[in-house]
Amino acid sequence: MNTTPSTHVLIIGAGFAGGMAAVRLAGRSRGRVRVTVVNPRPTFVNRLRLHHVAIGRQVAAPSIREMLGSDVTFVEGWVTALDPDAGRATVTGPEGVRDLRYDRVVLATGSTTEPVPVPGGEHAHGVADLAAAERLRSAFADLPGGADVAVVGGGFTGLETVGELAEARPDLRVRLVTAGEVGGWFGQKAAAHVRTSLDRLDVESVGGSHVRAVEHDRLLLDDGAEVPADLTVWCGGFASPPLAREAGLAVDPAGAVLTDSALQSVSHPQVMAVGDAAHTVAPHGGRFSMSCQFAFPSAAHAADLLRDDALGRADDVPAPLDLGFQGRCVSIGSRAAVLQLTTRDDVATDRAWTGPGVNAFKRFQVRGVVSAIGVARRAPGLIRWPGSGRTAGPVEARVAG
Ligand SMILES: Cc1cc2nc3c(=O)[nH]c(=O)nc-3n(C[C@H](O)[C@H](O)[C@H](O)COP(=O)(O)OP(=O)(O)OC[C@H]3O[C@@H](n4cnc5c(N)ncnc54)[C@H](O)[C@@H]3O)c2cc1C
Repeated sequence: MNTTPSTHVLIIGAGFAGGMAAVRLAGRSRGRVRVTVVNPRPTFVNRLRLHHVAIGRQVAAPSIREMLGSDVTFVEGWVTALDPDAGRATVTGPEGVRDLRYDRVVLATGSTTEPVPVPGGEHAHGVADLAAAERLRSAFADLPGGADVAVVGGGFTGLETVGELAEARPDLRVRLVTAGEVGGWFGQKAAAHVRTSLDRLDVESVGGSHVRAVEHDRLLLDDGAEVPADLTVWCGGFASPPLAREAGLAVDPAGAVLTDSALQSVSHPQVMAVGDAAHTVAPHGGRFSMSCQFAFPSAAHAADLLRDDALGRADDVPAPLDLGFQGRCVSIGSRAAVLQLTTRDDVATDRAWTGPGVNAFKRFQVRGVVSAIGVARRAPGLIRWPGSGRTAGPVEARVAG
C-alpha cells in the first residue's frame, strides 16, 4: 500500500472541533493525509470553564501538541489571511509571518465574545473568550464588598456565569438581567430548579425588558427601569472571528461560515467549517446550536469526508451530517445542576434530572470534553453520536441561507 501523503489538510483552530477533526483524520487516513493545525496558543482553552477563569479558579490548560500527538503538525500562530481559491493561508506567530499551502482547509475557528449591541458597550465585560475572561477576572476581584454586579442574558452562558459569580462572592449583590422569563427555555421541572438554585445564591432576577444602554454604574432598560451595576457582564450571544468574512466566504450576520449539511462552505465547497465556526442548518430548519454536541460530531464527520476523499472513496454527493441532540446539562454554581432532556431537534421536554448525581455528571462532562480529543487520538473511530431520527435527504436540501 502506498502511504505517501497525497493530501495536505489545514485545520484552523485547535478547540474542541479542530482538535477532534485533526486526530480523527490523522488516525483514520492510513498515512494518506498530512494534517496541520494552526492555533494562536500552545495550550488548550476549555471554553466551558471560562467563568471559572473569571472567578480566579485554576483551569487546566493541557498542551495542544501533546493532545494532537506526533501524527499532526502543530503550528502556533493566528491565520491572519486565507485565500481559498489559491489554497494559501498566512500565519502570524512567534516565528514571524509565513505562508502555508494546503489542498483542503477546515475552519474550526470557534466563536468569541459578541460586541455589545447597545450604547455603552465599552463598560461591559464578556466571558466567551480567554482574553475577555481574564479581563473580567481582575475587574471582579477588584470590586469592593457590597458592589452591584449585573449579568445580562438568560441563556446557558448567562445562567452558568451568574451562578459562579454569585457563589464566589456572596458579599456582592448579583443580578441576572434577561429580556425573557428566567429559565424560559427549559421544561417546567428544570426551570423551577434553575430559579430555586438562583434564589439560593441570592441572585435577583430582573426579567421582561431589554437593556437599551450600559453606563459605568448602571443598566438602562427599555421599560425605563435602571439596574445598578458597578460591573456588567454581557452574555447576550457569541460572535465569529473575522477570518471567514475577510476571506470572502459566505457568512451569516455574526460571521459564521454558511455551510451545506455536509459542512462545505456554500460559496467555496472545497472549504469546510465545523463547530461554532459553521452555520449549518439542522433537519428541523434552524441552525445547529453552538455547543460541544455539535462541535465533536461535525468535526468527526468532516474528518471522515476528507479521509474518503483522500482514499478515493468519496461519494459524488457527500453524506450530510446526521445528528440529533439528547439533552443539556447546565450548572448554577458548584452545587446545583440540571440535566434537561431534549428532543433530537434540541427542544426541551418535560423530563429533567437534578441532584448530586447530576452535579457529578456535569463535572465529568466538563473534564470529558477535554479528554475526548486524547481518546480519539488513541481510538480515532470510537466517537459516535445519536442520529436525527430522520431519513437523511440530499445535501442540497439543507443548505444554510
Ligand atoms: C462560559 C461558557 C460555557 C459554555 N458551556 C457549555 C456547555 O456546558 N456545553 C456545551 O456544549 N457548550 C458550552 N459552551 C459552548 C462551547 O464552549 C462551544 O460551543 C465550543 O467551544 C465550540 O468549540 P469549537 O472548537 O468550535 O470552538 P472553540 O472552542 O472556540 O475553539 C476555536 C479555536 O480556534 C482558534 N482560532 C480562532 N481564530 C483563529 C485563527 N484566525 N487562526 C488560528 N486559530 C484561531 C481559537 O483561538 C480557539 O482555540 C460554553 C461556552 C462558554 C463561553
